[in-house]
Amino acid sequence: MSLGNAFCVVCGSEDELTKERVCVSCFKKRTTLSKLPETIQGYRCPKCLMLLQLGKWGHHDSTDYHEGLVQEVLEIDNRTCSLGIGILSEEIDDRNTRLSVQVSGFIDDVEFEEIHTTIARISNSVCPTCTRKAGNYYEATVQLRSSGRKLTENELNTLRKTFDSYLESIDPDPMFFINTEGKVTGGYDMVLGSKALARSWTKHLLRKFGGTSKETNSVVGRKDGEDLTRLTISYRKPAFDLGDVIRKQDRYWQILAWQKDGPVISAIDRHERTGLTWRDLEKTSVECRINEQLDVEILKRDTSAAEFMDPNDWKVRTVSLPYDDDGSQTIIRIGLIADEWVAMPRIGGGDTDE
Ligand SMILES: [Zn+2]
Ligand SMILES: [Zn+2]
Repeated sequence: MSLGNAFCVVCGSEDELTKERVCVSCFKKRTTLSKLPETIQGYRCPKCLMLLQLGKWGHHDSTDYHEGLVQEVLEIDNRTCSLGIGILSEEIDDRNTRLSVQVSGFIDDVEFEEIHTTIARISNSVCPTCTRKAGNYYEATVQLRSSGRKLTENELNTLRKTFDSYLESIDPDPMFFINTEGKVTGGYDMVLGSKALARSWTKHLLRKFGGTSKETNSVVGRKDGEDLTRLTISYRKPAFDLGDVIRKQDRYWQILAWQKDGPVISAIDRHERTGLTWRDLEKTSVECRINEQLDVEILKRDTSAAEFMDPNDWKVRTVSLPYDDDGSQTIIRIGLIADEWVAMPRIGGGDTDE
């Protein structure tokens, strides 16, 4: 050791020194890159299998979950640059996993690499969502209904399915759960944990399918000096298609076209068209759906009526010809309206234009 040369203040070595005036070997002995406890605690809800991470419940695969748990408790020297973390996991049983955690990085240009072994332990803890569900908690009911006619099972399923895809598309929230759901007379009810969710899903339905919604609040009690209310939203999907026959002022009309303010309808019995508002339309009912109407061959005709074979019982029946019949049609479209076959004018083909 010669005077004047820099040397390690710990061991006196004149090897390369770090900023702290100690040699690399002493620096490594005195410095810890990272600390990790011998066990790490995780929580899983036994009912829905969601996992708790950084104070939030959610679904994770085990690799991601272990990584998150390690990152939550791993302490790193705050001077570290170029930090690298690698995790190898070895499952011991359903609740315990051995993790080998390799940590590397540079402190004051000295390279460090450490390997920790820890056990990730998963304990049961019922999540707030399941706690509320178990307590039969709910805030809102969304009633799926229709105007015009009853929705088919398929149509109800389509509406119901939008709930799942909508829920996946928004940020999770422990209140966003279904308390109960099921078919009721005239529709389907969804009882939900959150008013906000009920409202936002209804908006989604309105955007996707049109229609109207109505909110009612009912007071169910008081808590901390404030009224506790429950929200009911009745969503009505317009159940009409082009070509459907509706009844308005005791006459029958077919829906001819959709316009911004509502449909254009065309009378069945004579050459007449008019417009309806959406609200007017909601007050009408569908008497014969387009997909229940049939094209049948004319077996015999005179000037006012035609004979055809009733496909229900193979009997020959007579129907009045539509007002726009020109004597040349061999096929007519018929629909059962109020238990009677009615021949439809050829709407939409441009032959009923004013
Ligand atoms: Zn030294
Ligand atoms: Zn749960």
